[in-house]
Amino acid sequence: MSKKLLLKDAHIEGIRYFETYRKQGGYTAAEKALKMTPDEILEEVKASGLRGRGGAGFPTGMKWSFLAKPEGVPRHLVVNADESEPGTFKDRYLMEFLPHLLIEGMLISSYCLGSNVSYIYIRGEYSWIPDILEEAIEEAKAAGFLGKNILGTGFDCEIYVQRGGGAYICGEETALLESLEGKRGNPRLKPPFPAVKGLWERPTVVNNVESIAAVVPIIDITGAEYAKIGVGRSTGTKLISACGNINKPGVYEIDMTITVEEFIYSDEYCGGIKDGKRLKACIPGGSSVPIVPANLLLKTVNGEPRYMNYESLADGGFATGTMMGSGGFIVLDEDQCIVEHTMTLARFYNHESCGQCTPCREGTGWMYKILKKIEKGEGKMEDIDLLWDIQRKIEGNTICPLGDAAAWPVAAAIRHFRDEFEWHIKNPELCLTQNYGLANY
Ligand code: SF4
Repeated sequence: MSKKLLLKDAHIEGIRYFETYRKQGGYTAAEKALKMTPDEILEEVKASGLRGRGGAGFPTGMKWSFLAKPEGVPRHLVVNADESEPGTFKDRYLMEFLPHLLIEGMLISSYCLGSNVSYIYIRGEYSWIPDILEEAIEEAKAAGFLGKNILGTGFDCEIYVQRGGGAYICGEETALLESLEGKRGNPRLKPPFPAVKGLWERPTVVNNVESIAAVVPIIDITGAEYAKIGVGRSTGTKLISACGNINKPGVYEIDMTITVEEFIYSDEYCGGIKDGKRLKACIPGGSSVPIVPANLLLKTVNGEPRYMNYESLADGGFATGTMMGSGGFIVLDEDQCIVEHTMTLARFYNHESCGQCTPCREGTGWMYKILKKIEKGEGKMEDIDLLWDIQRKIEGNTICPLGDAAAWPVAAAIRHFRDEFEWHIKNPELCLTQNYGLANY
């Protein structure tokens, strides 16, 4: 059974309220942290090996150490709660059921970074959660854990919740900052990076909800102990939101030493494929990572078991880096149509493109049109190569990673499931009523 650090108290009734959270030992990590120096906290976070849980997997301690500290200029912590990646809902779970874990993590992180005013930027569709967060903030303030001179340390900290307008692109950190400043959420060119010029041109750290929540157990058990959980550079625990054709969709906390097979088939996690069907493929880290066929998902190209961690999910057979992504684990059974799923994703990215860069603005729409044509049985063989060509011209040629995110699913679908695309084109009548199935693989 995986060790629980973040969700260990999630089952306790009333844990979302200060009194219950405090009774379970809540805010003791904050009390401990406020007796440490900011540099000591930074060293603990570095020692923990915590990697950003939003998708990029960048080491959190290193990110914090890049924060510029010019004399007299305020600094900010901004929590990215714009969780919009299809298939990803772990941050929603944390905020809805354990809001004080996030607030406590923000207090410790704000103290470490020197942020007296910190923000939670939350996606507009999570319409009921800001009230939960604001209530938790008020409770923490009433108990002396936020506001002026916290616990008599002289440190002041206010936290504000800002609702987004429902644009996926505002999950990109610079678009988020633009939106938080009240502007249209267009990504900025980097450099300068937010650590130097972020919110209102002030040094800013933008971190995912789960990353900031993880700071609480890191301070609690120490960074060195946290680093002993997991394996290699995949330290600590990781929240995974599992969905699709499985028996037990939900949010799971894993310690990154379990295999993908165990995660899918064990009753402790997904409980196997629904209706006894067979596994066809999976998108293991939210829609921005490539789709992976079952044979490569369960075993590496060398025949070793594949594990649920950053390294193993990056080990050969994929188009890009690690597939841990945002922790959104989407399972597809034997009846699912890869062309249809790829088309749905292409439509999503086309809809969410901010339109600043030509390859993304034009390319995503073009890919969607071609995929729609193939899906409807109106495609031509040369369309597959055209799709391949378009995605190659998008990848790496845009301001922000949305372009790459739109290109990778198309590339992976063609790389691993080309036969299925060809079947659609060769069988225009059949593909409207049947799926290619699994028997052909
Ligand atoms: Fe906008 Fe797409 Fe360019 Fe990102 S890649 S800045 S979403 S047009």
